[in-house]
Amino acid sequence: MKKRKLTQFEKMLHGARRALLEEIGECYDETLRVSGDSSSEALSGYFFHPAEAGSNNYEQDRAAGLITSKSGMLKEIESALARIREGRFGVCEECGCNIPLARLEAIPYCRACVKCKSRT
Ligand SMILES: [Zn+2]
Repeated sequence: MKKRKLTQFEKMLHGARRALLEEIGECYDETLRVSGDSSSEALSGYFFHPAEAGSNNYEQDRAAGLITSKSGMLKEIESALARIREGRFGVCEECGCNIPLARLEAIPYCRACVKCKSRT
C-alpha cells in the first residue's frame, strides 16, 4: 500500500479512536451519575471490568453494555494502528492477500478479506 494512503488510514483510525474514547467517557458519566459513585478507582474499575463492576438498574446495564462494545471496537482500532506501525496493515490475517481498498475504507480496522470473513 502507498505510504500516503496508509497515512490517510492512520489519521482515520486516530480520529475514530478519539471519538470512541469520548463516547466511552460519556457512558462513564452516565453510569457514575446513576450509581452516584465518582471515585476514580471505581471509574477505572468500571472501564476494565464493566461486567464485574455490578449494576442494579437498566440505565447502568445499558451504559455498561455500551462501554463493553465500544471498548471492543477500541481494541480493534488500536490493533489496526499497531498493524500500520508493523507494516501489516491491509493484509488479510487468514489468507495473506491484500484487502481491497474499498473494504478498508468502509472498515479501516478489518482484519480479513470478505472471502475469509464470510467463511468464519
Ligand atoms: Zn483472506
